[in-house]
Amino acid sequence: MNVFTRILAAGLLLLDAPAVAAQTAPTHGVRPRRLAIRNAMVIEGNGTPAEGPKDIILEGNRIIDVVSLDPVAVKMGEVKRIPADVEIDATGKYVMPGLINLHGHVQDERGGIPQPLEYQLKLWLGMGITSVRDVSSETPKTLQLRTRSAAGEVAAPRLYVYARYAYMPVPKNEVEARQRVRDLKAQGVDGLKLFGMDKDVYAPVLDEAKKLGLRTAHHMAVDETNAWDAAKGGLTSIEHWYGVPDAALLSGAQQFPSNFNYADEGMRFRYAGRLWREADPARLQEVLKAMVQGGVAWNPTLDIYEASRDLQRAETQPWFTEYLHPTLEKYFRPDAANHGSYFANWSSTDEAFWKENYQIWFRAVRDFERLGGVIGAGEDAGFIYQVYGFGLVRELELHQEAGFSTLKVLQHVTANNAKILGEEQRLGRIRAGFLADLVVVNGNPLEDLKALYPQRADAAAGPGGGVQWTIKDGIPYDAPRMLSEVRALVKAARTR
Ligand SMILES: [Zn+2]
Repeated sequence: MNVFTRILAAGLLLLDAPAVAAQTAPTHGVRPRRLAIRNAMVIEGNGTPAEGPKDIILEGNRIIDVVSLDPVAVKMGEVKRIPADVEIDATGKYVMPGLINLHGHVQDERGGIPQPLEYQLKLWLGMGITSVRDVSSETPKTLQLRTRSAAGEVAAPRLYVYARYAYMPVPKNEVEARQRVRDLKAQGVDGLKLFGMDKDVYAPVLDEAKKLGLRTAHHMAVDETNAWDAAKGGLTSIEHWYGVPDAALLSGAQQFPSNFNYADEGMRFRYAGRLWREADPARLQEVLKAMVQGGVAWNPTLDIYEASRDLQRAETQPWFTEYLHPTLEKYFRPDAANHGSYFANWSSTDEAFWKENYQIWFRAVRDFERLGGVIGAGEDAGFIYQVYGFGLVRELELHQEAGFSTLKVLQHVTANNAKILGEEQRLGRIRAGFLADLVVVNGNPLEDLKALYPQRADAAAGPGGGVQWTIKDGIPYDAPRMLSEVRALVKAARTR
């Protein structure tokens, strides 16, 4: 009997009759009236150290109490164990807020080929993701899914819908731009997803969005607007990284070869790998400071560019064997018609430049946080060899590689993401009064972020233990069961 089971045994003796009767395990997909997660090591999500054992009590879709279990007090029978209808014994496990994926796209097709929505939703939940900021998809469909998810009618993460601003016809002037923002607001979206923007409409769009209470996520281009404009206009978050190093080019323009064509993805990604090296280090610090002062957060999505620095790693991920849907597999193959599938002529030279690119990028992300900036975490999966859910865990590993402690990394994907969503009063922390979005992890993600990957059948597997329970809005989902359903779905799709 180890110390934890002894504490548990002592604790159980103290339970009064209704609590003992409540030794029921959760039912997958059914929200109990009151659920207790017992003896958990808790990572709150706000960057404070892990602490436990604790009992976390959920009622409906809220966390109502987080109770520290002092071993001595437990032994003396002086700890009140709050009874519950349903219990999870988290002895030896870590409990943290549900992961928030700050950059997702709801996808039911890839390259025009249908892909079951269930595949993506189950992967997200099975990997511990309880919220997704959808940054452009088929907005009307995703808004319906948001409603059904909020009502608990479908097993899906909480959705925040940031609709694409520049759908056809693209607004040509300030009047049309402001009207577009109002039209999107009327559709009921939570925010806007911007791609490359011209200067004359950028400030009006940000201004109109702010007036209407819409947040803004911007995938910048190498363009006439960059991080300086974002800082001035009060953009919510820069997605990826374009717009940051370009704002620190002393000459104001990158050194492209004369035959460079921005519309050619192979070329675009090749020279993107040579952009950070051209940023002036001193000017870059000024850019980062301006972003902090302008309240602009940064969601770097480090995972989605990794194939550029190591194509073989990206192509041969062990998860593909069982989890890669044939639709995605086809989409990832080099094809100029599929966004992000630009590797037809990728070279060791490209990889060497990209490896250097990452080092400068890592430093900038780290400096940004040190200057007081808010770093978020998102995966952008469904593109460039990233599979839903797995991409986000890889993103966390890359945050660690960038130089952040795992405690900070887990803060990026929980409390920081909640802040960027404007939900910091109720999401992203394990705290009484907050929404009941949590994950029970088999293992210690502070020691090893790979604990968030599911266990692998092959002997070469790392220590991944995976998520045991994903609780979203108070609804417990058996994560290994979700993942086994995904594997079955993939298997069936392959034999079709
Ligand atoms: Zn994206």
